[in-house]
Order: sequence, then C-alpha cells, then structure tokens
Amino acid sequence: MPGLALPRDELIRRLPKAELHLHLEGSIQPELALRLANRHGRSLPGSDEGVEGLRRHYRFTSFDDFLRLYLALSSCLTDAEDFTAITVDLARGLAAQNVRYAEVTVTPMTHVARGVSGDELLSGLAEGRARAREEHAVELAWVFDTLRNQADRAEPTLELALRGREHGVVGLGLSGPESLEWPLQPFAPLFTRARDEGLHSLPHAGEHAGPESIWAALRWLGAERLGHGVRCLEDASLVQYLAEKRIPLEVCPSSNVSLGVCSELGQHPLPRLLEAGLSITLASDDPPLFSTTLTDEYLRCADRFSWSAEQILSLAAAGFEHSLLPLEARQAWLSAQREAAAGGATRR
Ligand SMILES: [Zn+2]
Repeated sequence: MPGLALPRDELIRRLPKAELHLHLEGSIQPELALRLANRHGRSLPGSDEGVEGLRRHYRFTSFDDFLRLYLALSSCLTDAEDFTAITVDLARGLAAQNVRYAEVTVTPMTHVARGVSGDELLSGLAEGRARAREEHAVELAWVFDTLRNQADRAEPTLELALRGREHGVVGLGLSGPESLEWPLQPFAPLFTRARDEGLHSLPHAGEHAGPESIWAALRWLGAERLGHGVRCLEDASLVQYLAEKRIPLEVCPSSNVSLGVCSELGQHPLPRLLEAGLSITLASDDPPLFSTTLTDEYLRCADRFSWSAEQILSLAAAGFEHSLLPLEARQAWLSAQREAAAGGATRR
C-alpha cells in the first residue's frame, strides 16, 4: 500500500473519519452546559463551583450516576437555539479531529416530555446541521432514539423521526436499560413501519445484556447495525450469524470501560471481535462523559492493541463503509482516506 509511512498518531489525526455512535445530549462540553444552565436559570451538579466543579461530575462510577448527569445535561435544553448551539459545538469538536461525517443519536421524547415542542427541536437541529456543514465542513445525520423502558414514547418518537427525514433523520434507535424486563417484541410493529418508511433500524444491544438481547434486536427490530453488540462473543452461532450477514457493531471501548462492561481497555473484547471476522466501527458514544474523543479511541486502541497502519486505515475505512451515506460519498471518502494515508490532503 503506498504511503502509510506516517507515524501512527499522525496517521490517525490526518485520516478523515466517520463516527457512527455518538449521542448529542452526551456530547455537551461542560463550558457550554454551564452557559445553557445559566441562560435558563438552572443548576447542574457542581456548577456552584463553576466549570471546574461541573467537570468533576463528568466522572462517575456507576450507570445510575451516568444517567443522572445525562438527564441533568438534557434538562438545560429548552428551545431551538439550544439544540442549534449544542449541534454546532459538537461539529466544531468533530472538525478539530477531522471527523467529517457523523450519525448522531438524539432522544427527542426526553425533551418533548419536558415541554419542548417537536417543531422547536426539529428546527433547532436543522439549523445546527446546516451550520455544521457551512462553518465546519462536517456532515451530520440524525438517529432518533426511543427508550426500552418507555414503550409509550416509541410511537411519537417515530412520528417525529418521519417528519425529520427531510432534515437528515436516517434511523430509528433504541436505548435505555437493557434487560429482559423490557422485551423488544412490543416495538416490532414500529420498527417495521420505520423501515417501510425508509428509516434504518439502529438499536443498542449486547452492551449490558448478553446474546439473547442481540437476537431479540435482530428478530424484532430488524437491526441493521448494533450499538455496542460486544457481548455477541458469548454465543458462537450469533457471531457466525453477524459475520455472515455483515451486521456491523459500533464498538465504543472507553464507554465500555467507564460503564463497567469490561474492567479496563486491555480486557476489551475488540481484538477478539476483529479476529472473529465481524464488521466493526470504532466510536465514542458520549465522549466528554467518558473523557474521550473518536481520535482518542483510535490512539488508545492502536497503542494498547499494537495496531499496524493497515489495521488503523481499515478501521477508519469501516466508519464510512458502514455508514448510511450514499455509495458515491462513501467511495469519495475512502479515496480521501487513502490519499491522506499517503501523506496528501485530508479534506475533499
Ligand atoms: Zn450509545
């Protein structure tokens, strides 16, 4: 392969990248969170001690703590201007890493249930997306996500997602507590309708629960990609199925370590997932909450797992290959990556 003579870290930074598992509400940096909280007269954990006080709360030891902060951040989002601000700030951070395309998950009913109108949300996101493109050369698509434990919110989420298609909504997601307590079968008709209407099925599964949760997401939701999916390794027939059907896993190592899915990066199943021939894309989930960025995920994993330049390039290529971009755009980014790896320009 020509080039690939760049030092590993420089190669990672130079490659144009795609990010396929990223939550908008979990991407709010503490500085912006504080500005929004002040604007609306709200307080955030530690915010009486300013941004450093709040930043200390961007660390947690349990999923419950994580959820509390996540919801506190969400509660600072009130109007279209707020959604535009967090989208543009997200794009600024992506551009700084040369992430040129991202599929970003939004959980609309968290906001609508607090009194934000669907129109306000959609118009704020649309404005933010347009500015991301114009000001930062970052293309965004949206995945509207509904929660497993709030089945009554699934239909309004789909309705909003369908209305948002003209503003870049490409998928319907599912997250929330992953347990048998919240079965997926009741969501099946909704996901069928979503797919019939041109949206993609992009649920979280196989993070906090095992293979049965992934099988359920495949069976009832027609999952086309899996958020996390790392626990598929507990079932050889599932691994074989995912490999044969080429169903990609959005793997977020720092998130998995922070939330206790694995004890430390060195114990992460990523090398085994790759060895098993699965389609993998590296992602950051809620980057400031896990003290990471997409670039950091590449740097940390490349270092810990001693990846070669070819392996890095192949994973970075997978980000675009498994994206929902049109074929022509995917191919253009793949050739831009090869050019960057050979030491050429990093932007189209
Ligand atoms: Zn996620």
